[in-house]
Amino acid sequence: MAERRIVLYGDPVLREKAAKVDEINQEVKDLVSDLVDALKGAQGLGLAAPQIGVSKRVFVVDLSVIDLSESVRVFINPEIVQTDDEIELEEGCLSFPGIYQRIVRPAKVRVRALDINGEQFEMTFDGLAARAVLHENDHLNGVLFIDHISPLTRTMLKGKLKKLAAAS
Ligand code: ZN
Repeated sequence: MAERRIVLYGDPVLREKAAKVDEINQEVKDLVSDLVDALKGAQGLGLAAPQIGVSKRVFVVDLSVIDLSESVRVFINPEIVQTDDEIELEEGCLSFPGIYQRIVRPAKVRVRALDINGEQFEMTFDGLAARAVLHENDHLNGVLFIDHISPLTRTMLKGKLKKLAAAS
């Protein structure tokens, strides 16, 4: 597959609400394989389709980063079923290189999605995996991790964000 560039903050595709996948056809399978390649290449924990310029409801999380017995999990048309508790963790995003912020999000998340074969699954995640699922799911709604930080912190990041947007 063609290598796809990870788009940076400032690219309008990151603010779009991504479209539902109607059918898991070859195009979607190619998209997933591009996402996995780009994620591995960037050594990240998760990557959503809008981050490679495709506004579709698909994301991947590389659970092997957390647990070596795990692998990359694909989420198509994901829905957050339930969240529990709250935790503050440092978070980054491949579309915001060099920017890390402590962000409060639910500590646990139950998500329902389709896998690459179109099979529905429902799973509960906690720790870093929960963080990744919530972060990537946000991308499908045009929500970025900087939307979760305080206005004061965002003001402090203004210069860095401007530079990123200018480079994208
Ligand atoms: Zn991100």
